[in-house]
Amino acid sequence: MSDHYERVKIELQQMKEVENEAAADEEQLPPASVSPIPADVSFTARRDLSKSSINGRSRSKSRSKADGRERQVNGKQLPYLTPQKSDYSQGQSRVSDEPNLHIKGTAKLLKGKTAANGHVESCQRQTDGKCEHHGKEAKKRRAVTVDTSKAKTSLEALKMSIRQLKWKEFPMGRRTACDIYWHGVSFHDNENIISGQVNKFPGMIEMLRKINLSRAVRTMQELFPEEYNFYPRSWILPEEYQLFSTQIRLLKDNDSTLKPTFIVKPDSGSQGDGIYLIRDPADLRVISGSPIKQSVVQEYIQKPLLIDKLKFDIRLYVLVRSLEPLEIYIGKEGLSRFCTEPYQEPSQKNLSHVFMHLTNYSLNVHSGNFVHSDSCSTGSKRTFSSVLYRLASKGVDIKKVWSDIIALVIKTVIALEPELKVYYQADIPPGKPGPTCFQILGFDILLMKNLKPVLLEVNANPSMRIEHEQEVSPGVFEYVPSPVDEEVKVGVIRDTLRLMDPTQRKQHVTSSTGGGSPEEAIVVETGSDEKEGLADSLPSLCLKQVFPKYTKQFNYLRVVERIATIFLRFLGVKGTMRLGPTSFRTFIRNCKLSNSSFSMASVDILYIDITRRWAGMLPDSREAGMCLQAFIEAFFYLAARRFKALLLREQVLLLLEVCEGALEGQSHSEKPRPHRSHTNPASSQSSAPTTFSSPALTRRRHQPMQLSAKANTEN
Ligand code: ADP
Repeated sequence: MSDHYERVKIELQQMKEVENEAAADEEQLPPASVSPIPADVSFTARRDLSKSSINGRSRSKSRSKADGRERQVNGKQLPYLTPQKSDYSQGQSRVSDEPNLHIKGTAKLLKGKTAANGHVESCQRQTDGKCEHHGKEAKKRRAVTVDTSKAKTSLEALKMSIRQLKWKEFPMGRRTACDIYWHGVSFHDNENIISGQVNKFPGMIEMLRKINLSRAVRTMQELFPEEYNFYPRSWILPEEYQLFSTQIRLLKDNDSTLKPTFIVKPDSGSQGDGIYLIRDPADLRVISGSPIKQSVVQEYIQKPLLIDKLKFDIRLYVLVRSLEPLEIYIGKEGLSRFCTEPYQEPSQKNLSHVFMHLTNYSLNVHSGNFVHSDSCSTGSKRTFSSVLYRLASKGVDIKKVWSDIIALVIKTVIALEPELKVYYQADIPPGKPGPTCFQILGFDILLMKNLKPVLLEVNANPSMRIEHEQEVSPGVFEYVPSPVDEEVKVGVIRDTLRLMDPTQRKQHVTSSTGGGSPEEAIVVETGSDEKEGLADSLPSLCLKQVFPKYTKQFNYLRVVERIATIFLRFLGVKGTMRLGPTSFRTFIRNCKLSNSSFSMASVDILYIDITRRWAGMLPDSREAGMCLQAFIEAFFYLAARRFKALLLREQVLLLLEVCEGALEGQSHSEKPRPHRSHTNPASSQSSAPTTFSSPALTRRRHQPMQLSAKANTEN
């Protein structure tokens, strides 16, 4: 390992020199809407034979393993996509060394990376307790306790992070409460936690299943079609099969030159399992059989950006530090996962070539062409910054790419937030003892040829493994350290812990308020990630705060959250997630929405109609009643009914004003409900969505609204 760090240090030193030469850049605020870049960027393959010894060795090791896995892939998990052995560059290195690049505007982005390595090295070289900096710090503060008993595959990276922070690990759990509970899968891994902080939100796994993510984004697309065009046009199966067939038939009838391709993804699948490509809706019935399985069928991005002729995607780590108030951080460093067969646009012939179309590491690692590399800038898995350097060297405006990605991340979390709040309240009702939550999410993003980022999916449990499987001698497999994974993931976990450090929060409270209101102090503290980085003489954070930092640019999108607040109000605090008919009536009555032309009988019919339809769409739901999505649909209906001839977004905003106005009047005479906040209620007020209209709304007042999900991702 030390070899690796020496090498990385040298690389980083070179990068620093480049950064020093680059002009100091002002951080660019991401635009509220993602605008496609017309630039046509194409790259030619560049092969560097100088690395062939490392790569050659790695490939021969992975190839024998691949055979076993391919059988498994073919036989079981991917019956329709057959991995094709390509003879592409057999025996050659397929990737190239990164040159030293002269780039403007990457210094901030790469800070975290530099810091992560520097710190690992300096601390690892010192024996326990002899790290001077940390020794002093540790004396000042009590060690933060972390229950790691449920950490599963993230354990190694977590242990490293805890060691670096000089915190206290409880690998078998602890009888008394810990400050932080690190779960490998879900909020419920440890039951009965009543204090501290858990690294999972209730409901996150459910929300990030492919169907639910598509639904949440689609709701936003209905209100803000342009702002949410970073998500490919999708249909939910089986319920929208007819709609899918009809829309595609119409599309083809209108333009016979169109040859779209679609990707079908099983609802709860991961790592590429069960995914296949089709060119016509009719193929679905043939492949999926009848009945069609719960899945999402999505427009396939046919022109991805290629490097060395290979398709790749980006895995970025995003920390949702709290929901109330909304706080989002993005890892400055991520991973790029490369396909292992040169890309060609989909044709009937290559539709089943897994290694050409799917970037999943878990699949490509079993290709004979997979390149394990000790360098972060070569091989089939690289750091995202090394890809950015490469793009910058071709003249790409990487600041624009980065700011589009930040916008995509914030908008996606805004789409998820309303329903997450419903889950949160059901598990941790306000006023009852319970932990607070945070979570690291894995965003999978594809760059189109025109550099526009497209959201593929969000993982609730991104792999935090820092080792990969390798055949060390014939037939003997071992987990060996993966430098690129360690480089990225240890920094993300360690800095997530730092941001959640309960002692830091208390320190900030006392030092900055002199014993005054704790809420005020935290408002200041949460706004500055740089400051938090300095507190321990640790490297600056590799996580960058993007919300509330960019509240002004994105808060206008938080319309559905306001509908969810009304929903939660009428739901009560009984740990349920569904609204009963009586509560729905109370909502209508309290918001003064019924009148002579919309009687309470009509209200009941509306409730039954929508609730029944949603019950059919959510077959595994155990609770009866109206879910949030159904309530949103009812709200949209009521808005359209009341404010005819306006854009849906305007109708909804007007109805929100009516409802919030009516409820506010009533609140004055009611006892205020206890409000649970992750950090503090004062800061919640500062970032909570308020009544306002978006700049885009005013701009588009006279344009027709597109109600259907419109992705327009292929430019
Ligand atoms: P999984 O959870 O099974 O990994 P993903 O949605 O991430 O499912 O899809 C797997 C892979 O398929 C992605 O990593 C990407 O390479 C490819 N992919 C997914 N959706 C699209 C799309 N709409 N267009 C092009 N490629 C896609």
